[in-house]
Amino acid sequence: MANKEIPYKIYLDESEMPTAWYNMRADMKEKPAPLLDSKTLQPASIEMLSQVFCKELAEQELNDTDRYIPIPEEIRNFYKMFRPSPLIRAYYLEKKLGTPAKIYYKFEGNNTSGSHKLNSAIAQAYYAKKQGLKGVTTETGAGQWGTALSMACSYFDLDCKVFMVKVSYEQKPFRREVMRTYGASVTPSPSTTTEIGKKILAEHPGTGGSLGCAVSEAVECAVTNEGYRYVLGSVLNQVLLHQSVIGLETQAALQKYDIKPDIIIGCAGGGSNLGGLISPFVGEHLRGEANYRFIAVEPASCPSLTRGKYAYDYADTGMICPLAKMYTLGADYMPAPNHAGGLRYHGMNTSLSLLREQGILEAVSYKQTEIFEAAEQFARVEGILPAPESSHAICGAIHEALKCKETGEEKTIVFGLTGTGYFDLVGYQRFNDGELEDYIPTDEELAKALNKLPKVD
Ligand SMILES: *Cc1c(COP(=O)(O)O)cnc(C)c1O
Repeated sequence: MANKEIPYKIYLDESEMPTAWYNMRADMKEKPAPLLDSKTLQPASIEMLSQVFCKELAEQELNDTDRYIPIPEEIRNFYKMFRPSPLIRAYYLEKKLGTPAKIYYKFEGNNTSGSHKLNSAIAQAYYAKKQGLKGVTTETGAGQWGTALSMACSYFDLDCKVFMVKVSYEQKPFRREVMRTYGASVTPSPSTTTEIGKKILAEHPGTGGSLGCAVSEAVECAVTNEGYRYVLGSVLNQVLLHQSVIGLETQAALQKYDIKPDIIIGCAGGGSNLGGLISPFVGEHLRGEANYRFIAVEPASCPSLTRGKYAYDYADTGMICPLAKMYTLGADYMPAPNHAGGLRYHGMNTSLSLLREQGILEAVSYKQTEIFEAAEQFARVEGILPAPESSHAICGAIHEALKCKETGEEKTIVFGLTGTGYFDLVGYQRFNDGELEDYIPTDEELAKALNKLPKVD
């Protein structure tokens, strides 16, 4: 087994794809703190969550006990269109860096939406269809989630209403057109189609909108339209659960060739790809079967895990979604307007936040010019043009590989390459023109939003 020649790209057979998602919470001795209703501050129940989310997804959200949850056959069939995704040995990057480290990346950009988000979008659309709903609503910023969801909805013949942050709607017409091609209706947010949208427009005429505002509009639209529910593409535990296919496939591919990783690295926005990639390995770690280092990489301009507080906070600026105990910068926190690297959510998934608090998950942050440098270095030798979000993980992997170069250690590093960067060329353009600036918030600036954390506990 150990002598088996390792291919450049490790593809699993369709029959080797996971048939169940892995629920890391079942193996966590201390469970993440419960979500709290934003009005009553009582722990959220399935009944309460089911008013906003699909019933089975609400159940998954609160499931702390089942280690494996079977993947329905319809979803597995859809996964087959773009999964299993390859685990690729970064030989050329290793050579360029002159490192003795062995670097592997799991590439999730091999589908039209261009990212890992389709793994959860198809699951969420499936449960909506199964519940007999007419459609779903959501928000999107740059558009990756909206694109993935519109693909998933068209597959199951569901209506898809996307509220897209107005500046993105105007400045990023390409993703918008992909969504419309898949049949979604895309509304620039804030809009006059919701009460909250009208209120925000009256208070801030001409505003370009924000993700928090788009969430509020999407939730209102779901709650006030018969047969609709709201769906979310990151942060929630149900999304991490669906994304565990990334980690399960990685685990199976590595086991097949007897490769033992030392360090597993992912970029962290709301935590879904990172959680999905590392959770099966965290499970081994929690059960005392193996030891790994897990590293989250985040932008220096939105540093929730490295500079935030572990506390209850609102998940959205509109304060309608349940409160979550997590690493947060405060729901009012806004990264600098020149920030081009994505991953701009103020909080972090609750399970990952707890792992961070327990010291199991490490976290680092890098400036966006470092991120784009890493992206360029990677693109030039490995061929793939990475999304700026994914490039955070690349940057983290390069740093660890260069440490190995100093010490001479032959560590095995695995990182998640979440997607491609074809729709992020304005960011690349600014980098190429030398116009991309770094912005690191001061402690005083961070304190402003952190001082407004709700008083719970
Ligand atoms: C959305 C996105 C991310 C960040 O989301 P997580 O939930 O933190 O995984 C990372 N990479 C790409 C390509 C994305 O589209």
